[in-house]
Amino acid sequence: GHIVILGGGESGVGAALLAQSKGFSVFLSDQGKLKEHYQDQLRRQAIPFESEKHTVSEILKADEIIISPGIPEKSELVQTIKKQGIPLVSEIEFAARYTKAKLIAITGSNGKTTTTLLTYHLLKEAGFNVGLAGNIGQSFAKQVMDNSFDYFVLEISSFQLDRCFDFKPDVAVLINITPDHLDRYDYKFENYIHSKFRIFQNANTQTACIYWGDDEVIQQYQDLIPQAAQLKTIHFGQQAGAANITDDAIQFAFGQIERATAPIQGPHNAINMAAAVLAATEAGVSWSDIQANLGSFQNAPHRLEPCGNWHGIQFINDSKATNVDAVFYALNSFQKNLILIIGGVDKGNEYDVLNDLVKSKVKGMICLGTDNAKLMAHFGDRVPQILSTDSLETAVSTSMQWGESGDIVLLSPACASFDLFKNYEDRGDQFKATVNRLTHGS
Ligand code: ADP
Repeated sequence: GHIVILGGGESGVGAALLAQSKGFSVFLSDQGKLKEHYQDQLRRQAIPFESEKHTVSEILKADEIIISPGIPEKSELVQTIKKQGIPLVSEIEFAARYTKAKLIAITGSNGKTTTTLLTYHLLKEAGFNVGLAGNIGQSFAKQVMDNSFDYFVLEISSFQLDRCFDFKPDVAVLINITPDHLDRYDYKFENYIHSKFRIFQNANTQTACIYWGDDEVIQQYQDLIPQAAQLKTIHFGQQAGAANITDDAIQFAFGQIERATAPIQGPHNAINMAAAVLAATEAGVSWSDIQANLGSFQNAPHRLEPCGNWHGIQFINDSKATNVDAVFYALNSFQKNLILIIGGVDKGNEYDVLNDLVKSKVKGMICLGTDNAKLMAHFGDRVPQILSTDSLETAVSTSMQWGESGDIVLLSPACASFDLFKNYEDRGDQFKATVNRLTHGS
């Protein structure tokens, strides 16, 4: 058969290599510029490709097309392909055909990366032969080809799920559903919800389906989970579930985790931890191994990441908080005395949901961006002190002036970073470096 791959990023190039190794003839096409090292990989295997263009006549020769999650359904090319009736699948769907490994797949609007990394950590440290893939790190397809893992922990986005049909994880996790990416779903939340529930679409009696049972959207659409599946729910309070989160602990049938000493903090991370522990348990990790290894987990950077302590003032980098919901959970993760650094490129944000938390916890707000007018207008009367700046250095030095021992300086922007920074990583890295420099220089 002949396979065409649309999009030559990590997943597309991986899919090309796997497809070729399975005996398909392969052609890869990318509208953007293919990175040099990907071009080299393709050339080395003599896989034909085109960069900075889509030759439709070539693409339509495919028996099956593997499409990058970045290409929207509405694009003319996808419409043309669909008219021709050529099957379109994601790299996840394609690669899953060629592995016998047990698959743990994790999706949700927020918390995917944290939960995926923690689940992977728990398997890996318990001695499992496990790979990490999906939206994270190396391509799933490439690892299916190169390695012989017994398990994969996969971070899965809604765009990948849209092109999954037979993909059947052994353990499927849905953390939460809040509006996101609606531009790709005809501005219908309903469509996005259905996309997320595709993580469960092939679940049967062998499949553990883990989800946050208090999430109102998930509750409302619960019927989308096949009846035969094993349901494992996470709840706050004492409701019957596979995990119950109280103020102090996360309780499971087999034991409990004290929240105060857990490696990641805040109510959202209690959900993430509960999900990861349940997923690891379903994969066969013992409770004693989980207890032994939970404490050494280190989350990916830029997610409520402690990054300095100066005269009792703690600095926290939450640069990955690029939407209002993430800031909501960040504010919920601390008791009070916060100096909040917020701002960047506004994505049509609605700040009202933050009002009560800001009023009760934020003693000073620093708006860091090139256009702070909306934030200043919204929060000006809701905090004791507020500053507008486009200088990170000024933001950090002001937070040091305002702060006292016991305070927390929290960078949690609620906005995209492209006004002053390359991306959220760059913003977080520069924040950490500036904190480090200013607190060590004085
Ligand atoms: P994702 O991969 O889904 O973007 P991350 O783990 O990278 O999720 O976290 C992204 C942002 O969302 C961070 O600011 C983090 O603090 C916040 N967050 C993490 N888990 C949750 C959750 N369960 N609910 C709400 N927000 C969360």
